[in-house]
Amino acid sequence: MKKTIILTGITIMTLLTSCFVSALQISPIQKPHNLICVPIEPLPPIQAPQSRFLGIPLYWNNLSWALAFHVDDLPDPTGAHPNQPNTFVDQQWFIHQPITMMMFSKYIHTYCPSNYVYDYHSEYGSHSWNHVFMGGANYVDTLYWFQTSMTVMNMYAPNISLWSNKCITFSVPGGDYNPFMVDCASQTGFRVMGTNNSLNPSSDYEWMTELLCSYLSVGSNWLTTLNAFKSNHSFADVMIHPQDTFDNNYFSFIENETSGWHCTWGEIRCYSWYRNCTSVMYLNSSDNIDSYMVHMNNSDDRIWSVPVTFNFYIPHWSGLVFVDNRTINNDIGVFYPSVTQHMTQTMREGYRYNNCVLSVSALVDDNSVIRVGVA
Ligand SMILES: [Zn+2]
Repeated sequence: MKKTIILTGITIMTLLTSCFVSALQISPIQKPHNLICVPIEPLPPIQAPQSRFLGIPLYWNNLSWALAFHVDDLPDPTGAHPNQPNTFVDQQWFIHQPITMMMFSKYIHTYCPSNYVYDYHSEYGSHSWNHVFMGGANYVDTLYWFQTSMTVMNMYAPNISLWSNKCITFSVPGGDYNPFMVDCASQTGFRVMGTNNSLNPSSDYEWMTELLCSYLSVGSNWLTTLNAFKSNHSFADVMIHPQDTFDNNYFSFIENETSGWHCTWGEIRCYSWYRNCTSVMYLNSSDNIDSYMVHMNNSDDRIWSVPVTFNFYIPHWSGLVFVDNRTINNDIGVFYPSVTQHMTQTMREGYRYNNCVLSVSALVDDNSVIRVGVA
């Protein structure tokens, strides 16, 4: 984009110069004889524009690692676990962190409370139509399987997430996976397809640029496992089933955990998309305000509009941030240990100012303008 602008600039300069030369040839300007010549002060050297933009950090709100929690096999009122919905609610998982709820499309119309999304910052994903394993199926059947799952999700799920009504996450039953499933899922409109291939704590989460997601089954060694992900600044996903009795210490771990982004699958997938497809250009500085323009280098109508985090190095911040003339005044830089679903660790718009770095998290479009105060 920058190259295009420079080239366009050169083209305009070339056009202007050729016009000027033509004008000179037609009527040369004569110097008046009575003009007094005044020595001209040399101009100060032109200051190069100084961008304070540091980049889009790996995780929302400049947090240092990410953790999701997803529940498969929801709901199954006629299946092996008829009391699942009650068990699910009774366990109070919702109040601790956002949950990605993987639904059987077949039953979604019977149980899909709309308040879960808004009250608990959760997301509905698909766990196929009826949990039949499709690893051995042909391409056409597999594509139909995804399409059916998607259609019903769109028909019956009252809300998919805080950000969109488009269902983009799919958890493969039993991890029964074949290579062309990725293509089928993508064609259908899914943007994350989870299998139970093990996540590796030493890898970063750039795999999110692709469709495939892996997740953890958290056993008795969950604390050691999660701490390994945390110290490696990785993305971890905890999988449970509704009938599971989960270690109560996990909840106190979450309550006291201050450094991770507690996300849903769709949130981290869409954030990752923006991180890879967004560039930022310094515009100018005026009245102690630096202006920057956002450019999207790609488009995908399945990707939700989610708050993207932009980091700026600002030793003396005035306290002002505007995005497209909206004031961003929600402080998401302070951890409140007594609050469940910590506001500074679940995705939203706001700012965080820490060690001279201002992190601005905001919904942006192509050509959005971010303005930051530099006192
Ligand atoms: Zn399952």
